[in-house]
Parts: sequence; C-alpha cells; structure tokens
Amino acid sequence: MNLLYKSTRNSEKTVTASEAILKGLADDGGLFVPTAIPKLSVSLDTLKNMTYQETAYAVMKEFFTDFTEAELKACIAKAYDDKFDTEEIAPLAKVEDAYYLELFHGATIAFKDMALSILPHLLTTSAKKNQAEKEIVILTATSGDTGKAALAGFADVEGTKIIVFYPKDGVSRVQELQMVTQKGSNTSVVAIHGNFDNAQSGVKEMFENKKLAEELGQAGYQLSSANSINIGRLVPQIVYYVYAYAKLLLNEEITEGEEINVVVPTGNFGNILAAYYAKQMGIPIAKLICASNENKVLFDFFQTGVYDKNRDFILTTSPSMDILISSNLERLIYLISGQDARRNSGFMQELKTEGIYKVSGEMKAELSDFAAGYATEEEVKQTIHDIYKNTGYVVDTHTAVASRVYKAYAEDSGDSRKTVIASTASPYKFVGSVMSAIDDKYKGMDELELLDELSRISGTEIPKAIDEIRSAKVCHCEECDVDKMEETVKAILGVNKNIGEK
Ligand SMILES: *Cc1c(COP(=O)(O)O)cnc(C)c1O
Repeated sequence: MNLLYKSTRNSEKTVTASEAILKGLADDGGLFVPTAIPKLSVSLDTLKNMTYQETAYAVMKEFFTDFTEAELKACIAKAYDDKFDTEEIAPLAKVEDAYYLELFHGATIAFKDMALSILPHLLTTSAKKNQAEKEIVILTATSGDTGKAALAGFADVEGTKIIVFYPKDGVSRVQELQMVTQKGSNTSVVAIHGNFDNAQSGVKEMFENKKLAEELGQAGYQLSSANSINIGRLVPQIVYYVYAYAKLLLNEEITEGEEINVVVPTGNFGNILAAYYAKQMGIPIAKLICASNENKVLFDFFQTGVYDKNRDFILTTSPSMDILISSNLERLIYLISGQDARRNSGFMQELKTEGIYKVSGEMKAELSDFAAGYATEEEVKQTIHDIYKNTGYVVDTHTAVASRVYKAYAEDSGDSRKTVIASTASPYKFVGSVMSAIDDKYKGMDELELLDELSRISGTEIPKAIDEIRSAKVCHCEECDVDKMEETVKAILGVNKNIGEK
C-alpha cells in the first residue's frame, strides 16, 4: 500500500513520503501528516528479538512506502552504526521504579541524534527519487543543540552542504567547542554578532528570498532545512518507543499487551508526538505524560484547552525545552479537529495574530491519552540531587524535569503502570547545572574541569564526543554581522564571485 501525506492546512493535495521529506514544510505553511497512521505489521513477539536497526525498518517501512527495501535499509545502516557508543543504540536503565530510555548515545550525546543521524540519508535518497539534481544546502540557525546534531549528521554526506549560524555569545562553552571543531569538508559554522533571534530571522529571510533561490539554483544549489517539523525527523523517533516496549517484553519486565506509560520532557512536541504515533501503531501505551519546565505553555494547554504564548520567556537550566511555540503540536491539533484542515488553519492563524487559541470541549476530550505536568527550577535541582543520592545514577536537567513530573503524576493519580522516561541528554552535556545540583561546592567551577569530576562520582566514562573537544582542532572561526548572512552564504558556496550587478 502506498501511504500519502497531506498538509495540516490543506486536505486537497497529497504528496509521497519522499516529496514530503524533500520539501520539509508544505507551501501553505502547514506540516505534512500521513493520511492515516499505519499499524505495525509484525507482532510484538517478533519485535522482541529485533535489533534497533531491524525495528527501525519495521516502523519506517510503514511510513516511507515509496522507498524500496534496499534504499531504506541503506539509510538505516548508515545512520545507526558505530557513531553510537552502544550496539543497543537506545538502552534502557532501570532506576528506582522507572525505566530510563537513554536517547543520548549518539554523536552529540542528545536525543536529536536519533533523528538527525538518518535525516541526511533520507533527504539525499528522496532527492534522487525525485530527480532533484541540485546539491542540497542545509541552512540552520541554532541556540546550541540542533546545530551540532545537524552538523554531525550531514558531515561528509555526498550531495549536501551544511551551514550553521550560532550567536557568538549565546551558547555554552561546550556547545561552541562542539560546533567549531566539526570535521567534514561540506560543513561550515559561522558565529554571528547578534542573538539567536537574529540568527533565526536571518535564516528565515534567506528561505523566503526568491532572488537568492534563483541565484543559488543557477549555481546548482537548492536550500533545505533540517528543522524538527520535517516528517523525516518525526518518524525515526517512533522507532525507539517500539523498541523500548519490545525490550521490556524480552526482559520479562512486562507481559505481552500490558500497558505502560511514557513520560517525555517536551519542548517542540516532536518527541512526545512520536510516542503518540507509536501508540496509534499498536504499542500498548496508556498515558503520554508531557513534562514541561517553567515555560509551561503545554501544561496549561492540557489543563484548560487554551494555548497561550503571551507570557514571559523564562531561561532555565533545560534550555532545549525553553520554547513558547511548540510547532509539532499542530499535528495533534489537526488530528483532534477530525483532520479538518480549515479548522486547524484557523487556530494557527489565531496563534500567529493573537498568540492564543482555544480548542472546543469536544476536541479537548480527544486529549484523554495525555497527562501533563511541569517542574520548577528548584524541583529540577532537587530531583537530580535525590536520584544521585539514592541510586548513584546521574540524570541531566531535561530528563530531571520528566522524572519530577513522573513522580508527582504517580503520586497524585495512583496510576502504578510501568513507566518509560525519555532520557534526552547526557548529564555531561549540561555538566555545570548537573554538578551544582548534586553539590553546591561545584557551583561556578569550570565546565571542562567538572567533566572529570562527573566521571569520577558517577563511575561512567566521559563520552568520546565530549572528550574529543578538549583536544580537537578548531576548524571554523568565521564570524559575520547580522546583515551579512546572505553574503556569507554566497561566499561559502562560491556563488556570484565574479559576476557584477546585472
Ligand atoms: C530538543 C530537546 C528536547 C525537546 O524535544 P521536543 O521534541 O522538541 O519536544 C528535550 N530535551 C533535549 C535534551 C532536547 O535536545
């Protein structure tokens, strides 16, 4: 069966999976969604004994139906290889009474690697399938994590170039070092003299600039985005929820058909939406628990049915969840509106103009699969401290948000189902906040020094990805002013060098 995709803002037109991946965002500004969420065609009993790569194929073949078996398997093999520091790819750790699904064993030690290690291959395969012959240029603005994960994913992938812009003084030392030491002849990293908003607006302007697209087109380039709304990022994230359930079954932690709960530290709503898709595919998941930090716009939405971004933006110690517009929520709104594109467009228009919308009581009733909670900065700190003290296991700040929300949920609801917590970053990545939560004496100490101390107290090895940056050569030192981003891109691509104004 050939599964087609349509935009959340227009039900008329359908595209194939490879077209949706190549385009990223629909022309009407909507997100691509499958016309129906497919069911798994293998039994849980079969999944139980599958490797991560085999599970990935079992899930992705249901969604990317215009890829051949050989194409899809090649993408999977190139993505989930020894870039990960464990053959399990996404291992489960039982700590206290929860199962931590560790999604941070890839190249940049955060969960974005799970999707960004395969997206470049899905994208280049999609380009070939659609006879798009131009070289793909990925432009990304980053506040830290996405940029490095995209760089690592696209490095040395044939037929692609990647250019990342980051705010010169707006990322952590570890994050900056991770980016500027990136290898790969097709990678470029540019520090801009401005903040993240400047970087993001600059990149957005380039995407909307038709003249630039034409100039680049003539030189054989086509711009594309590695943004988290690409369906090629969402589908690979379903895999680890299927895999986790199968492994719990294999290890006899649960019996076949037993329902589990899943808790996800949430920002853009991509990761938890993938868990929801896993449930629709047939994985016995009872509650999807959405965990927010102090930017609790999603918590409020699940409580009241009102999405209201008109509030102060709070900088927290879990920066990858500091988000007021959760883009992927649009896919859920579309589903609970009965796949009514016009109605969904209305909500998104209200969000754009007023910053707020309210779903109907009927729609809100469709959200009963979800529960939500949030954790304050103080609670996050206490949680990291307590888990370490009780068990010796160290969680990062994002995962701690989920741990805390899980504990409060279990206590308040009395729901004692086995629970998987999505563990989205290695504690090494946020070593400063993590160590000062464990003991105040670490407060203000140099992050690079704290790495050894974290290794010592947790009895874990410093991940290769982090160890390398301490000695790695800096390969990128380009900087530019905010109003010179387009020129910089052209210079990097060697476009227009000797051509005067026409
Ligand atoms: C991106 C990110 C999140 C949020 O995931 P979404 O899919 O955007 O909800 C949580 N934790 C970490 C460490 C991240 O990098």
